[in-house]
Amino acid sequence: MRVLISGASIAGPVLAYWLARYGYRPTVVERAPALRKAGGHAVDLFRPAVDIVERMGVLPAVRDRRTGTERLTMLVDGGRKRAHVDLDRVFTSDRHVEIMRDDLSEIFYDATRDDVEYLFGDSIATLEQDADGVEVTFEHAPPRRFDLVIGADGLHSNVRRLVFGEERRFSAFIGAYLAVATVPNHLDLSDHVMMAVAPGRMAACYSARSMDDARALFLFRSDHELDYHHRDVPRQKELLRAAFAGMGWEVPRLLDELDRTPAFYFDSITQLRMDTWSRGRVSLVGDAGYSPGPAVGGSTSMAVIGAYVLAGELAAAGGDHERAFRAYEREMAGYVRRAREVAMGAAKWLVPGTRFQTWASFRGTWLMGKLPKRVTGALNTVTSKAVRVHDTVPVKDYPSMSGIARSGVRPPR
Ligand SMILES: Cc1cc2nc3c(=O)[nH]c(=O)nc-3n(C[C@H](O)[C@H](O)[C@H](O)COP(=O)(O)OP(=O)(O)OC[C@H]3O[C@@H](n4cnc5c(N)ncnc54)[C@H](O)[C@@H]3O)c2cc1C
Repeated sequence: MRVLISGASIAGPVLAYWLARYGYRPTVVERAPALRKAGGHAVDLFRPAVDIVERMGVLPAVRDRRTGTERLTMLVDGGRKRAHVDLDRVFTSDRHVEIMRDDLSEIFYDATRDDVEYLFGDSIATLEQDADGVEVTFEHAPPRRFDLVIGADGLHSNVRRLVFGEERRFSAFIGAYLAVATVPNHLDLSDHVMMAVAPGRMAACYSARSMDDARALFLFRSDHELDYHHRDVPRQKELLRAAFAGMGWEVPRLLDELDRTPAFYFDSITQLRMDTWSRGRVSLVGDAGYSPGPAVGGSTSMAVIGAYVLAGELAAAGGDHERAFRAYEREMAGYVRRAREVAMGAAKWLVPGTRFQTWASFRGTWLMGKLPKRVTGALNTVTSKAVRVHDTVPVKDYPSMSGIARSGVRPPR
């Protein structure tokens, strides 16, 4: 069975890996001309996603390239007051790994490149479904026919737009904006993230063991959607500068770097809310189908788990895509709902709205750094709830190819 996957970041290569293991023939089309190397940000893998990564045989590579961030310093009052905390008190999971997204996608790509066809620098132009397949035209490659098409092409998914319609029908603005810029590591950070918080805005800087530079991360609240085009980078930088005007600590220096940064990202924090992720022979996986919001919702773990479950359900259904897509949605629905709720709480915690909330957040962090570890869980309600949601998703064992043969289920053609 030939499956076309759009997107070669996290969900796409993980799905391709498992489909190839189950005897499918996956092709991955990626709009970028090559794997992304500049920019990017740190992402989180929680227990079930780490278990899946282990089953893929790439856990040693993932651990090798983890960011190594161990400490958080929260600063308020322009940096005059500081609270330090070890991150193992914040992330109370014993199997959590933080890694740069681009490192993770490179590891997944390396694990699949021999068994999976990758088409870089291209994108699906049109999709037409009929009773036995999907006719696909590309922006560059000649048209081809596939049995199934899966959109793993992120929050602004092309496949979702082509099959389900415009994004605004499914996206909910949750009242905040997010920006990331690649900056020099002038704070000499290695195992440490620094985060300045003021009412309605948060600016952070971090680096990772595998990086020579650092990332400046900005989050700010807005009670309305801002007016800009998604390709108008100068306007986005202007909005960011306006939102952080007058904030102390290193913020003016980080904003200065916006003129020189080689990689810049700016977007609203948007949650996707769809009733179903599948239509006919097309389905969605990862951020394309159920992003709870970038930077607030553990969505990388969801992308890994979703890809594993989708491939597993297709294998278990012997390629009966209708049955498999229904089972995939059933398996993921509760987790997606809980992750959305957690993401709303995380957005409030990361960007406190008022002076009082800022102070409470600072005191909470300060206390977490001082109290015995067994007491800090109670204080840390937002992150411990998030960890619980992402750490405790039950993930089934799916049959291997030999298991499929033994079970009498028809293997994919
Ligand atoms: C600034 C920022 C900070 C974040 N912080 C965190 C965090 O702290 N923790 C966490 O867990 N997650 C975080 N995330 C979210 C995380 O990056 C995503 O959840 C994760 O990468 C989802 O993987 P994905 O494969 O579903 O989609 P993506 O990683 O978005 O990948 C989509 C892929 O599809 C490709 N693509 C797009 N359009 C097309 C097209 N037309 N044709 C072909 N290919 C296409 C893209 O180039 C990309 O390679 C953050 C996200 C952002 C933006």
